[in-house]
Amino acid sequence: ATPTALMVGTGRGAQLGILIKGPEVLESTRRVDTIVLDKTGTVTTGDMTVQSVVVAEGESEDDVCRLAAALESASEHPVARAIAAHVPASEDARRPGTGVSAAPRPQVPGVEGFTNREGLGVEGVVDGHAVVVGRPQLLADWSQPLPDALADAVDRAQAEGLTAVAVGWDGRARGVIAVGDTVKPTSAEAVRRLRELGLTPVLVTGDNERAARHVAAQVGIDDVVADVMPADKVAEVRRLQAAGKVVAMAGDGVNDAAALAQADLGLAMGTGTDVAIEASDLTLVRGDLLVAVDAIQLARRTLAVIR
Ligand code: ADP
Ligand code: MG
Repeated sequence: ATPTALMVGTGRGAQLGILIKGPEVLESTRRVDTIVLDKTGTVTTGDMTVQSVVVAEGESEDDVCRLAAALESASEHPVARAIAAHVPASEDARRPGTGVSAAPRPQVPGVEGFTNREGLGVEGVVDGHAVVVGRPQLLADWSQPLPDALADAVDRAQAEGLTAVAVGWDGRARGVIAVGDTVKPTSAEAVRRLRELGLTPVLVTGDNERAARHVAAQVGIDDVVADVMPADKVAEVRRLQAAGKVVAMAGDGVNDAAALAQADLGLAMGTGTDVAIEASDLTLVRGDLLVAVDAIQLARRTLAVIR
């Protein structure tokens, strides 16, 4: 009867929109007491959009956006997708004399020598310029400190809970693009119900501390670990396990895969990357954290029937 009950559990999971790797997963699902949540794409929608662009003195917003968009079109990161989509309507999209705008024809130049600096940003040659787009620290390391106007822009963006991305080329920082996304409509309720089930939520992100706190406050999470490099997400899971916790990890990104595999229970967003899904024990098909609550309840009920 035991295998039958487990199979019924996995079948019920499929109806709820949960793909379960195997019946044995239900046992770890039942025991978890801590849930590590990735921010972007897991607690938030991950559909980032550009909120503002600030350029250094003498620079053009069009150039900053165009070179950044060119470089980011080679990356799949949510920040990259926002910047790649934000190409200013080019001058020649307006048909002279007619007063009618043609369909926007973004003039995105090609990229050579593209390098993805995982968790930091991207680099490459665009239009003969060595371009860098990423965390402000990445540019500060690579050139001189950001000019005051850009440092202020970073500060303002982060104070609003946004992600500040610096853009530079040929050894100089030229602009700051602020991007942000929104919390999924079900995330706050999911966190509340996870707590009711006895789980402690922890928000872990590569993003800046203030953006992380902003999201944490909206969904009711107190424990925040920010500015985490991709390789350190797994270290965070290990640290909790070493403290005796049974850890679930929910994530969607390539940079979450190692942590998802290390966790006692890996929960992938079905809307996320294949790498994250492969590394996980459970997939929440629609990427809805409320379904993680269903999964834990299902596991507890199924195993209660068996015992
Ligand atoms: P997370 O997915 O947890 O937000 P990542 O480790 O992927 O974090 O990235 C950490 C930070 O590095 C991002 O918040 C962003 O500031 C920066 N970053 C990463 N990739 C890019 C990119 N392609 N373009 C610009 N910034 C990036
Ligand atoms: Mg993510």
